[in-house]
Amino acid sequence: MYKLWEARNNQAFDEIRSTLRSMASGLERCMYCEDSAGTDIEHFWPKSLYPERAFSWDNYLLACSGCNSNYKREQFPLDEAGQPLLIEPTSEDPRDHLVLTSKTGKFEARTPKGQKSIEVFGLFRDALEKGRRSAWRIISLLLLHYGDACSRSDWRTAISIQQDLCQYPFAGVFVWLIDTAARPDAAMFIDERCLAVLDKYPDIKDWL
Ligand SMILES: [Zn+2]
Repeated sequence: MYKLWEARNNQAFDEIRSTLRSMASGLERCMYCEDSAGTDIEHFWPKSLYPERAFSWDNYLLACSGCNSNYKREQFPLDEAGQPLLIEPTSEDPRDHLVLTSKTGKFEARTPKGQKSIEVFGLFRDALEKGRRSAWRIISLLLLHYGDACSRSDWRTAISIQQDLCQYPFAGVFVWLIDTAARPDAAMFIDERCLAVLDKYPDIKDWL
């Protein structure tokens, strides 16, 4: 089976890669870290341990070589029922298992699956935590610019800001910011002018 994978039809796999890229967040970002370019077709269930899944579409993700080769590798923890103890990014909501702290950019685990995902995917990397902190600030600033453009009826600029926001890495940070904005203590984490923009243009919540 391993040899088969090495000898796979390149044209078919170009198509798989292209479909996975269209499913990835931002500009074809890695489905684990949401930061680096998604370059590798990753087998969620490792093909060395589960060769019967090597050619199964449901088992393919797009990952960067750092997440794929330096962190996850062949690691695949299971729970007592034999189910993966890792978040499957195309079918599960990471928010069920992880909490983002905006001030530190750190993910904290909400469940054992969240904890294993932080460890195995290397979500604790310093560069990722800095990137999430920075993303929180940049997304907030872009939302302020979006509000300004809309208030001037400058729709061309507003659409271009919307595109920038939707293509920005760390798509999960944008989702967290939207979630946080709905909390009663939102003003502790998000600039009040930014909250006003989210309030005035509620369609922003559906952009991602
Ligand atoms: Zn990655």
